[in-house]
Amino acid sequence: MINLVDLRRQFKSVEQEVLQAIAEVIEGGQYILGPKVKELEAKIAGRLGVTEAVAVANGTDALVLTLEAYGIGPGDEVITTPFTFFASAEAISRVGAVPVFADVDPVSYNISPSEIEGKITEKTKAIIPVHLFGLPADMDEINEIAQRHGLIVIEDACQAFGAMYKNQAVGSLGDAACFSFFPTKNLGTMGDGGIITTSDRELADKIRKLRTHGTTKKYFHDRIGYNSRLDEMHAAILLINLAKIDEWNQRRRELAERYRTSLAGVSDLTLPVESDHCTHIYHLFCIGSQRREERMKKLLQAQIQTAVYYPRCLHLQQVYAPLGYKTGDFSVAEALSERLFAVPMHPFLTEQEQDQIISILKQKDEN
Ligand SMILES: *Cc1c(COP(=O)(O)O)cnc(C)c1O
Repeated sequence: MINLVDLRRQFKSVEQEVLQAIAEVIEGGQYILGPKVKELEAKIAGRLGVTEAVAVANGTDALVLTLEAYGIGPGDEVITTPFTFFASAEAISRVGAVPVFADVDPVSYNISPSEIEGKITEKTKAIIPVHLFGLPADMDEINEIAQRHGLIVIEDACQAFGAMYKNQAVGSLGDAACFSFFPTKNLGTMGDGGIITTSDRELADKIRKLRTHGTTKKYFHDRIGYNSRLDEMHAAILLINLAKIDEWNQRRRELAERYRTSLAGVSDLTLPVESDHCTHIYHLFCIGSQRREERMKKLLQAQIQTAVYYPRCLHLQQVYAPLGYKTGDFSVAEALSERLFAVPMHPFLTEQEQDQIISILKQKDEN
C-alpha cells in the first residue's frame, strides 16, 4: 500500500537523534514546559520574525486560548471559512462566540476576501483565515478589511508551517497565529502539540496564564484557565523536525511539481495552483475530479491510499443546524467538498511510487 503519509519513514530518517533526545529528556527529569519547550518557542518565534511564541497542548487549544485571550465570547461573531477542518469553527463555538462563514475562492480554496465584507456585523470581532492544505490565504486583502472594520485577524496556520506569503512567514501575517503539531501535519510530533505566535506581548502573557490554570504565580489564580501545555518530549522531537522542515517542505514542493507536470493534460483533473507571491508547502495534495469516487476506487485497487478533505462543509454540519445555513449557501465550498480528493504526499514518497500513482491517474477510462 502506498499511504497518504508515512510517519514510520519520517521517524526512520531521524531515529538516532529522536531516541537520544527522548533519553535526555527522561534523564533530565523535567517533563512539562521545561528548557526544550522554551528553546522551541524561541526558535519558532525567531524563524517567523515574531516576538512571542507560546506552546500549548494542540492546535485546537491554540485557537481556543487565543480567542479567549482576546476576550472573544458570547455575543460575538467570528468570520471563517466553511471549507476547513472542523476545529477552526469549533474553537469559535467553544468560547461561546458564533462562527459566521464566508465562501472560498474556487482557485485557492481559501476564504475569499470579497465574500468577507458582506458578513461583517456589529457583533463581528475577528476573522480566522485558514491557510488550507499549506497555501497562504490572501492576507493583504484580509488585513485591509480587518483594519477598516477594527477586527482581529487570527491565522489558522495548522496546515502551513514554513509557507511564505510575499516573502513573509505564515504565522507572522495577522495579529496572532495558531499551529498544530499533530503527527500528520507537515511539522508534527509523535503526539499532540500546538503553538501560538504573535508580536503582542500582552496577548502572549494572557495565553501563558490561560495554559496553566489562570496562574502567573503557582497556586495563585486570577482567572479560570486550562491545562494546555506542551510536553518536553514533544518539544525535543519538534526541535529535531524543525531543523528538517525546510528540506521536507522543499521535497513536498518538488513532488507537487512532478504531479502537476505529469497530470497537466488529464481532462477531468483539477490540480492545485501556485500563485507567484506564495510558497505552498503541500501539507496535502488535493486533486479535483467530477468522477471522484471512480478515481478513488481505481487508486485503491492499485493499493494507493486516498482520502477526502473535506466531505462535508462546516455550515452543513449537523451540530451547526441551529445556525440556519442550507445547501447552496456556499456553492464554491460545496462543489469542492464533492470533487476534491487527496493523493499521497509526504517528503518520503519515492518518485517510483509517485510514478505508479500518476500512471493510474493517466489510465484511459476502460468503461
Ligand atoms: C489540525 C487542524 C487544527 C487542529 O489541530 P489539532 O492539533 O489537531 O488540535 C485546526 N485547524 C486546522 C485547519 C487543522 O488542520
